[in-house]
Amino acid sequence: MMYKLIIVGGGFGGLVLANRLLDKGFKDFLLLERNDRLGKKILVTGNGRCNLTNVDVSVSRYHGDNAAFCASALERFGSSELITFFAELGLVVTEEGGRFYPLSRSAASVLDCLRLRIDGAPLPDGKKLCECESKVVDIRYENGRYMLTAENGKKYQAENVVLAFGGKSGANLGTDGSGFLLAEKLGYTVTKLTPSLVQLKTSDFSKSLSGVKHKACVTLYDGDRFIATEDGDFLFVDGGVSGNAVFELSSRLSLTSRPQIKIDFIPNMTREELSSALMKKVKHFGFLPAEKLLVGYVHSALSAWIASRCGVKGIQISELTASQLSDVIACVKNCRAKIDGAFDFKASQVTHGGVSTKEVDEVTFSGKKSKGLYIVGEALDVDGDCGGFNLQWAFSSAMAAAENFI
Ligand SMILES: Cc1cc2nc3c(=O)[nH]c(=O)nc-3n(C[C@H](O)[C@H](O)[C@H](O)COP(=O)(O)OP(=O)(O)OC[C@H]3O[C@@H](n4cnc5c(N)ncnc54)[C@H](O)[C@@H]3O)c2cc1C
Repeated sequence: MMYKLIIVGGGFGGLVLANRLLDKGFKDFLLLERNDRLGKKILVTGNGRCNLTNVDVSVSRYHGDNAAFCASALERFGSSELITFFAELGLVVTEEGGRFYPLSRSAASVLDCLRLRIDGAPLPDGKKLCECESKVVDIRYENGRYMLTAENGKKYQAENVVLAFGGKSGANLGTDGSGFLLAEKLGYTVTKLTPSLVQLKTSDFSKSLSGVKHKACVTLYDGDRFIATEDGDFLFVDGGVSGNAVFELSSRLSLTSRPQIKIDFIPNMTREELSSALMKKVKHFGFLPAEKLLVGYVHSALSAWIASRCGVKGIQISELTASQLSDVIACVKNCRAKIDGAFDFKASQVTHGGVSTKEVDEVTFSGKKSKGLYIVGEALDVDGDCGGFNLQWAFSSAMAAAENFI
């Protein structure tokens, strides 16, 4: 069967596009999804709550070889347009610290709103709007039409194709990066792919800290050169560090060759304030070992680790010298760790790199190398910060691509 449009990928962007087309009465499309159901990844976003967008959507929150590419779509289809779009689909969103979530606090309700009209009953003429378990493995442009082949051998034809196959992060959710081969087959350049919004590897912390969470201010350096700083959750994991603050910095890791981080575990106290607070500890709890000095300020496991790192483990608090106290305070306020790279794509939320934005029109999202081909979402060399910016980008680019058909 020949379609006016085939959408490759039934993730967030593909589903937004399909819903927008339906809203405007355009039904001559087929959405192909490799998984057995649509939008699997949506369910895990925002820890199952789906952080849809952010109050602070602007080009500065996006990365790629040419992040300014995002400006037009973000301006036309920003966070208020996203909120209105979902309101039309019956989903109410609510803001929490600048981030927008569904009022239900459930990513499943976002997916339901996006999927029910697409994988529900067939159209009156018997046509379906989507086919799952259809992984597109080949695409060619011949005689003014696209010929697509799925892994199961099925063949499809369309005048236009939107590539919405996502990135390389979350292979278990259908995005293993193989979609990029389709763009390459049509002559497009794929820039270097690296995992972003991901834990960072370091061997500078002990295993005993795994699972310890803290609010902290984390700064990324390349050697001694400042790169960026982030306040937020900081989590020790086996072999590395995680949490929102670390995720944010991971998107800047490609700018470094000798990465290291500085952690301030008590950013809301100056060294002097911490020092005078600890003097009270010395006065009242001098009989305790130094491992307990910071209990009440940081997690007890972190307090013990800091004592160990400063070489004061086992020494009574009252016996600590001024220089030892100063070392402990330095370790709390300026704890350094060498970064040995990022965890791999499996652990990452988003992919840095993708189809080169130099080869795509920033207004229509049409590829410059082939007529009737459009590329949206994470498949492009655009990745956003943590906080709803990536779903927003998939939305903005999909809405812009939809304009070509309505
Ligand atoms: C754990 C996790 C949590 C996240 N949380 C958030 C969050 O809270 N907020 C936020 O903004 N972003 C979040 N993200 C990022 C966000 O989910 C993605 O950036 C966004 O979904 C990208 O949308 P997309 O439509 O471009 O691609 P995707 O949503 O990844 O969809 C791509 C779809 O294409 C399908 N596909 C791939 N190749 C083929 C093929 N060859 N043939 C057919 N189908 C194919 C895939 O199976 C998939 O369904 C999170 C990501 C992860 C992994």
